[in-house]
Amino acid sequence: MAGDNSSITIDPMKGDKSVPSPRLRLMSIAILVAILASCGGETRIPVAAHAPGVATAPAAGSPGAPDPLPSFSQDRAMNHVRALARRIGVRVRATGRERRGARYVANKLRGFGYNVYIQRFDVDGGTSRNVIARWPGSMRYPFIVGAHMDSVRRSPGANDNASGVAVMLEIARLVKNRSQAEFVKFIAFGSEEYGTDGRHHVGSQVFVNRLGPRGRRLLPGMVSVDMIADGRPLIDGTAGIGPRVVARTMLRKMRAAHINVVYRTTCDCSDNGPFERAGIPAAFLWSGTEPNYHSPSDTVRNLRPDDLFRTGRGVRAFVRDLDRAMIARFRRH
Ligand SMILES: [Zn+2]
Repeated sequence: MAGDNSSITIDPMKGDKSVPSPRLRLMSIAILVAILASCGGETRIPVAAHAPGVATAPAAGSPGAPDPLPSFSQDRAMNHVRALARRIGVRVRATGRERRGARYVANKLRGFGYNVYIQRFDVDGGTSRNVIARWPGSMRYPFIVGAHMDSVRRSPGANDNASGVAVMLEIARLVKNRSQAEFVKFIAFGSEEYGTDGRHHVGSQVFVNRLGPRGRRLLPGMVSVDMIADGRPLIDGTAGIGPRVVARTMLRKMRAAHINVVYRTTCDCSDNGPFERAGIPAAFLWSGTEPNYHSPSDTVRNLRPDDLFRTGRGVRAFVRDLDRAMIARFRRH
């Protein structure tokens, strides 16, 4: 606006050389408002067009195609891994470092435009937390993409599990403002690893417990992305407890996207466990055991970025096709 005097005009009736008339002031304000509206409109229009629940979104049961998603960025995902595993480092549950990890994740998700809720719980004589992100206007019980933030003592947890959190954060970025945001929610779980009280999967168990009977009935499914950037090939499966429909669908979508993935019934060893035990269809994405597991050498340097990228592309292929029909199919199990 500097250097543009067009909005300051002289009222010839009053001969006033400096103060604009009320009518001209009003016109100036109207022009200014119009300019501001048109500036903001460029960014606002796509948001409105993709906002869940608005007229342009596919109606319930309609065959409206989900939005295309941007590409998964390996660089952005690796930045998250470095922030968690290198800058913050060891993130033992219910410690200040786990809390710092949670704060990092929450800030990123808020920056993307999600509503973020911190779910706190007591464990090992301290407080741990889940970071839960929901798109404004999304369905009450959407599909969950989850990954645990904590690591074991002395391990910076690059592969276990900054890698899974990085995939989750990058998928959240791809989905923001898109039609799929109505059907998916993102959770970074605390306290997945064993602690001094001998329990594991504490954060995901707290989440499932607090859902209540109605939430557990309506939650369509979840995937736990856990240790996905070391070893080959990528494993997709369940703990062998709950319905397999999510893991099977994920396998199909990933293979259609030419991802090298095998199906396996694994162990009750990740955050899918509590969901499966509650009868909710859940999947586990994992790239298998590796030499740096739970050791100080689980560092960024020992992680394979292209394996992380492979998993990211696979989760993207699944989330891209999420719609009301798929949610309904998962709920029938
Ligand atoms: Zn672990």
